[in-house]
Amino acid sequence: MEHANLPYRVIAAKCIYCGNCARNCPLGCITLERGSAHIDAERCVRCGECVQACFAEAIVRGA
Ligand code: SF4
Ligand code: SF4
Repeated sequence: MEHANLPYRVIAAKCIYCGNCARNCPLGCITLERGSAHIDAERCVRCGECVQACFAEAIVRGA
């Protein structure tokens, strides 16, 4: 797929710092710091679990 490797990222302004994404990431590559979640793009396997876990719709895909 053309966009298969686009990174996931957190829109900090929408993040409510609930931690759901970090708890559901199978790689454990999401950390919470300075008021929002942060995805380690180097370790992320683009599985999409964090998007499903985020009720605030704060995680999107793309640059
Ligand atoms: S896409 Fe998957 S591996 Fe990447 S941050 Fe989200 S839950 Fe973790
Ligand atoms: S699940 Fe969404 S709102 Fe909650 S910490 Fe993660 S990015 Fe922020």
